[in-house]
Amino acid sequence: MNTIKDGWFSEFSPLWPGQCMSLEVDEILYEGRSKFQDVIVFRSKSYGNVLILDGVIQCTERDEYSYQEMITFLPLNSHPNPKNVLVIGGGDGGVIRECVKHPSVETVTQCEIDDKVIEVSKKYLPAMSVGFSSPKLTQHIGDGFDFMANHTEEFDVIITDSSDPIGPAESLFEKPYYELMKTALKPNGIICSQGECMWLHLPLIKKTMEMCKSIYPVVSYGYCTIPTYPSGQIGFVLCSLNPDTNFAEPLIKWTDEEVTKLNLKYYNTDIHRAAIVLPQHVRKTLNL
Ligand code: SAM
Repeated sequence: MNTIKDGWFSEFSPLWPGQCMSLEVDEILYEGRSKFQDVIVFRSKSYGNVLILDGVIQCTERDEYSYQEMITFLPLNSHPNPKNVLVIGGGDGGVIRECVKHPSVETVTQCEIDDKVIEVSKKYLPAMSVGFSSPKLTQHIGDGFDFMANHTEEFDVIITDSSDPIGPAESLFEKPYYELMKTALKPNGIICSQGECMWLHLPLIKKTMEMCKSIYPVVSYGYCTIPTYPSGQIGFVLCSLNPDTNFAEPLIKWTDEEVTKLNLKYYNTDIHRAAIVLPQHVRKTLNL
């Protein structure tokens, strides 16, 4: 399907049938096919530069920080001392940018399947890819599933910043991947995965949460608002190996001064607590 027509990009997907987000295009900056997916970057009229993979919006310069800050600090600040972090996916660099600024974090390892995404992000999304130059970062190009299978007890936190479960990220939503993450975590480690949208994907989220409960002693779900993800909202699957973890009450709390110093625009300690509070029908469906 031609996703750019008459100067507008429209995001069609079987994952959100009967609806689509459209953004007005100023200029197409890059368009090509990598080994894994179709890649488009365009400058939009009102959301800055936008990265599209296989027809789906991955991030826009205007609102990306809400997702990047929340998928990073919900898990990191629920851990008492997150030193070694693994990021799977995250080719735009935004999650890396947030991880490396955390004062406790000593090393960040990234495994992204598609070097083309990293290349175009360095060129067209400089405010996100800035994290790639951190001395804390080690980068690998490869499949996150295979990477996970080769690591044992190495990471305090694993963040899966993946695209949707159609295409190269499919295996990152399934039970064998969650079992491999458990093995790759250090004792008391925490995981956080892109968890789709509760307005659109509640059956998938329910299935994922039930599968997680069979592997991890503590399982929770949080969300943030973000205008350019489907239905303006995206969630996070949070699991901990530490039975005492309470995702609704961060162990690392930041003052307003610290939040300003870290240049955070969405995350603060109060929104961390609020992110775990779910609408009644979601709470009931997920048995939380
Ligand atoms: N936050 C975005 C969203 O929810 O749409 C995701 C952003 S990030 C660009 C997603 C990245 O995951 C992409 O760069 C993609 O190449 C990468 N990815 C997809 N499948 C992967 C896999 N199996 N292993 C590692 N990275 C993968």
